[in-house]
Amino acid sequence: MIELPQLPYKRDALEPYISQKTIDFHYGQHHAGYVKNLNNLIEGSHYENMSLEEIIKNSEGSIFNNAAQVWNHNFYWHCMTPIINNMPQTMLLTAIERDFGSFENFRHLFIKQAATLFGSGWLWLVRDEKGQLSLMQTSNAETPLTHENLKPLLTCDVWEHAYYLDQQNLRLAYLDDFWKVINWQFVEKNM
Ligand code: MN
Repeated sequence: MIELPQLPYKRDALEPYISQKTIDFHYGQHHAGYVKNLNNLIEGSHYENMSLEEIIKNSEGSIFNNAAQVWNHNFYWHCMTPIINNMPQTMLLTAIERDFGSFENFRHLFIKQAATLFGSGWLWLVRDEKGQLSLMQTSNAETPLTHENLKPLLTCDVWEHAYYLDQQNLRLAYLDDFWKVINWQFVEKNM
């Protein structure tokens, strides 16, 4: 049985950037829906006693899609915080400057890749086995977890359900708001 984790903050905590209405639907309906679907799909199967990560690494089709969406959302909520701390510190900032030239250039590339991801998916900041940081677009439920050498540090959900209630089709406006609530301490902890 896979559980829906608690949100790390109250549903209205990210306002005015991400509204309670968006969280009510995104967490309470979409994310909860993936958990429910997954539990229905794995009931009585050999997946039933696996961890979420094991299911993702050993499945395909509907089971993979729902399991990966559960994991991606679990991770996504922690990538945001109501405590506004707009800059990464020390080790993370140094790595970003080394691999993207500057923090401003990193922001530019992050927003650009998130904005140009066609259809539904996720934008990730990942670290490889050598410690090098890079950006990665994934479609639909795809996740860096299936790449042995990649460690996800940060993600942005660019499925329309992440922003449609607040920004309608304006993904760029959502990305601008998302940027303001990034939890850089969480990103650094993932290093
Ligand atoms: Mn989503």
